[in-house]
Amino acid sequence: MGLFEGKGVLVTGAARGIGRAIARAFAREGALVALCDLRPEGREAAAEVGGFFVQADLGEERDRVRFVEEAAWALGRVDVLVNNAATGAPGSALTVKLSEWRRVLEVNLTAPMHLAALAAREMAKAGGGAIVNVASVQGLFAEQENAAYNASKGGLVNLTRSLALDLAPLGIRVNAVAPGAIATEAVLEAIALSEDPERTRRDWEDLHALRRLGRPEEVAEAVLFLASERAGFITGAILPVDGGMTASFMMAGRPV
Ligand code: NAD
Repeated sequence: MGLFEGKGVLVTGAARGIGRAIARAFAREGALVALCDLRPEGREAAAEVGGFFVQADLGEERDRVRFVEEAAWALGRVDVLVNNAATGAPGSALTVKLSEWRRVLEVNLTAPMHLAALAAREMAKAGGGAIVNVASVQGLFAEQENAAYNASKGGLVNLTRSLALDLAPLGIRVNAVAPGAIATEAVLEAIALSEDPERTRRDWEDLHALRRLGRPEEVAEAVLFLASERAGFITGAILPVDGGMTASFMMAGRPV
């Protein structure tokens, strides 16, 4: 019997990458999964895991309401929410467009807060549940020229603690993972488009004590653990899944 047999699990940004691996992992453990994404490929991802797909823009308030309503109806219950969808807008405070800054904050920070509130009302009907936010090492430390993403993930880290306190009386635990560089389509594309892809890959690998990129499945396993009863006394925790990147304050780019 799977860890999540018959449970209702909502995963955002599940058309590809880490979100898709998370949806697969929950389905493997017997969960009924509702996937949400902007990308229509989410439909194939859902079909692969026998799940339900809602194409939606989580930057829009009404789409968030529609996702949770339709998912709750399709699955019959909501036990777990994974806030994984995110976007970015490179640039410093001097260069980022204000409209893009607002969009990043809306998708990466406001949407997880609003979805948590919507899902918590459904979870309360079943006596509790779990929320896992996919933050980033960039929510713990900042990267140059990435002000909007850094701020959104830093906000998500403290939102996780805030939700943990506020939802504990409803029997809902809230935690986050903070991944290092993970070999997803997005990251592999960025490496391929760089000036010297081989060098870039090596540099990125060298940011981690384990000297490699992480795999989407490795993030998914951490999410599964935090959402499961095995983590029954863990709430408000931020778990780095970063191959040791944040274990050192002087790793960046240098062999240790
Ligand atoms: P990705 O860009 O491939 O996946 C994110 C998914 O979210 C995409 O399918 C995208 O279509 C969807 N999405 C974006 N905006 C959306 C919106 N407004 N509405 C609905 N869906 C939307 O990224 P990934 O690499 O798989 O990353 C997944 C999560 O992990 C993100 O939260 C990201 O910040 C985080 N993360 C990734 C890495 C990494 O190295 N890949 C590192 C740290 C944190």
